[in-house]
Parts: sequence; C-alpha cells; structure tokens
Amino acid sequence: MKPVIFCDFDGTITLNDNIIALMKQFAPPEWEAIKDDILAQACTVQQGVGRMFSLLPTTLKEDIVQFLLRTARIRDGFSEFVAFTNERQIPLYIVSGGIDFFVYPLLDGLVEKERIYCNSADFSGDTIRITWPHACDEHCQNECGCCKPSLLRKLAPKGAKTIVIGDSITDLAAAKLADHVIARDFLLKKCQELRLPHTPFTTFYDVIDALKESEVIA
Ligand code: MG
Ligand code: ZN
Repeated sequence: MKPVIFCDFDGTITLNDNIIALMKQFAPPEWEAIKDDILAQACTVQQGVGRMFSLLPTTLKEDIVQFLLRTARIRDGFSEFVAFTNERQIPLYIVSGGIDFFVYPLLDGLVEKERIYCNSADFSGDTIRITWPHACDEHCQNECGCCKPSLLRKLAPKGAKTIVIGDSITDLAAAKLADHVIARDFLLKKCQELRLPHTPFTTFYDVIDALKESEVIA
C-alpha cells in the first residue's frame, strides 16, 4: 500500500508565513497583540486567526492576493517534488492553516485544488470572516482552525503509512501521529527532542532524497 504525504504550506512550501506577511502589509497595528496571544496560547489558533482577519475590510481581497503573488517565494524543488509523487503515485495532500483565497492562487499550476485542505473566507460582510471547513474532530480539543491531525485521521486509508512535512508548532500534533516526519525549523527541534522518526530538510530536493531513502515508501 502506498504511503500518504501531508505537506504544510506556510514556511514549508513558501519560504515565509503568508498570514504574517499580509498582516504586516494591510492590518492596523492591533494584529500584533493578537499574534502574541496566539504564540502565548492565550487564545486558540482558530480564535486568533479569526480575529486578525476581522481587522481587514473585504475590499482588500484582490490587493492581498496580488501582494502575495508578487512577494511570496516557493521553496526550491517543490514542483519537482510534486512530479516525483505523481510518478510514484504517492497521494499528496497540502494541509494548511492559510486561507483558500490566497493559498489556491499561490499553488495554481502546482497542485490541484482537490488536494489542498485549508481554511476558507466569507467576503459578504464589511470585514473578512474566516470559515473553518476542516475544524477539529472529536479527538482534538485544540481549536486548530484547520486541524491537521483530524485530516490525517480522515484522509489516510487504514494501514497506510503517513509522512508529515512541516516547519512549526501547528504541524506537531500531526507529526506525532505520522510514521515519518520531514522537518525544518521549530518542528525539527521538536522531532529531535521527542525522538520522532524524522529527516531534516532545507529544499524539496532534500525531501525527494529523504523519500527515496525512506523505508516508508519502499
Ligand atoms: Mg508552516
Ligand atoms: Zn485540532
């Protein structure tokens, strides 16, 4: 049976965090206190992200998308990595705490929408309202917003090996459930600390090498 790959978006596929970048560019200064609350776990990710986007008028939608298309950088080797998974017929899912109105355009031509699981947004009011099509299942009480462990439970067929690729705290719960983790930055330190089976990466060429060497895909 083929393994299933779950790959984070912000800071993993892109070099930087897109929510932080767009808040810096478009939000009033209050956004920083909300970000600090999320990091201090004074509120959940779901509450914090919802509050941050509620600071932004819906009229900014196109400007935000154009800004990110202009400034966001995709990590080296990503399209080769997608081609590699296609050749080997390894299912690849993108699991992201980002929002569809910018995640889809940034991945356009690289990954089909059907493989992308992220948050969504409602632009019918004065300010942006985030909606949560992939909220936590009954096994997760973290109010993740887009719940990666829930998606792993839902999308990986029974008995299939799972591989998580990511960089941050929001990938940790899924990483703990995975058979193998490919990690950078904070997630890498956590994998070392908790002795989770893992490989470090910098580019997606490293990810391809890690997959070729991994017993999980043999
Ligand atoms: Mg990330
Ligand atoms: Zn959750």
